[in-house]
Amino acid sequence: MSDLRVRFAPSPTGYLHIGGARTALFNYLLAKKEQGTYVLRIEDTDVERSTQESVDAILDAMNWLGLSCDEGPFYQTERFDLYRLKVQQLLDEGKAYRCYCLPEDLDAKREEAMKQGRKPKYDGTCRNRQDQPDAPFVVRFALPDPNGEVCFVDRIKGPITVRNEELDDLIIQRTDGTPTYNFVVVIDDAEMGMTLVIRGDDHINNTPRQIHLYRALGYEVPQFAHVPMILGADKKRLSKRHGATSVMDYKEQGFLPEAMINYLVRLGWSHGDEEIFSMDELIEKFTIDAVGRSAGVFNPEKLLWLNSHYIKASDPATLAKLLLPFLAKQGIDTTGGPDVLAVIKGLQERSSTLVQMAEGAAFYYAEQPEFDVKAAAKFLIEENRNLFNELKTALEACSRYDETNLEPALNSVIQKLGLKFGKVAQPLRAALTGGAPSPGIYELLEVLGKERVIKRIDNALNRLK
Ligand code: GLU
Repeated sequence: MSDLRVRFAPSPTGYLHIGGARTALFNYLLAKKEQGTYVLRIEDTDVERSTQESVDAILDAMNWLGLSCDEGPFYQTERFDLYRLKVQQLLDEGKAYRCYCLPEDLDAKREEAMKQGRKPKYDGTCRNRQDQPDAPFVVRFALPDPNGEVCFVDRIKGPITVRNEELDDLIIQRTDGTPTYNFVVVIDDAEMGMTLVIRGDDHINNTPRQIHLYRALGYEVPQFAHVPMILGADKKRLSKRHGATSVMDYKEQGFLPEAMINYLVRLGWSHGDEEIFSMDELIEKFTIDAVGRSAGVFNPEKLLWLNSHYIKASDPATLAKLLLPFLAKQGIDTTGGPDVLAVIKGLQERSSTLVQMAEGAAFYYAEQPEFDVKAAAKFLIEENRNLFNELKTALEACSRYDETNLEPALNSVIQKLGLKFGKVAQPLRAALTGGAPSPGIYELLEVLGKERVIKRIDNALNRLK
């Protein structure tokens, strides 16, 4: 075990976003690589926007990706006593104060500042007040030393300095008594012993404020690594316009978790020009130093390409388990049909997603294949009657359905009718599949088996026009 302690700290106000998943992954990988500890903390202090549904959605997604935590999940709503204590500590030490300013007054002042081209920030009205009116209040952190500055070296972005005058007296407790994000994140990261905070760079502006809070609370300041955001192809911040942004949507679209992991890691991290990484390789190779400073660009084609790769590389039995819900969704019942593993083997080469694979499996399990218009017009024609009859005879006579025995059976028809291989195989394939994409003719015959093959040739014969 090393001393490294990292965490992923999602707010449960929606599904797990691609960007969040990548942050979780980077934390996970580093913890595994350095044999540190990866903590999961649910930041649910915003009780109005946090829902159990989102918590479940996030946990499901983490589970699907295989990013199990070493400690947690912790819930901030279970830690309110601690936060209250810390608010009191800062109040007692004169490092925080009650602010009674009314929201409408603050709004007016903000507007005025904007009009005058000043940066809107709290003007400190309540900083030195001694009375304690019987009125609602928030608690603000009294930012120390207005002439000072705060410096830190971000592990990704490099050295950052912010003058204190840029910052203002942060609200740490709302009027309803609940604590705010910037306050509790500091307490938890410190109390949970985080040594490095890896998170999205949308939080980089919060970091100087948080560093002040660490110091005021007497905590050691951890290191920070702010990961650049993810953009769409148009270089705008990734949003629904660019496609699904929820990790679990990709599960539903038939992506494998390995593909998703491999894709996510490359959004901002690289290792030479390598593209394919197993989880073990990632754990071995991942470093924060190789996380780039510029934003990653989301590329759906690359994700699809990776998914095809992992579908090809997967063991059919594993795929079979993953494929089941997709078959069910398309109303495909495999009972009594061809061997699922054999079907999958034939589909692995030509499926980019599990949805496609399920679509590709449909003709195997249908009572009779559904003919596409083109295949019907081209092959279900009276001129083929003799051919189908000959095929039926030859394939009925074939005792074992494997290539060694099927090849001479087809050859006998080819020779008897004086046709080229394609002129025999194509109509036969159409009769068996209805025109759907399918593997080689021998594999197809073998997987379907004699009984279904004969039934499908009969069906074609009955439909000739
Ligand atoms: N809960 C914050 C969020 O979901 C993350 C806070 C952090 O990582 O410091 O944006």
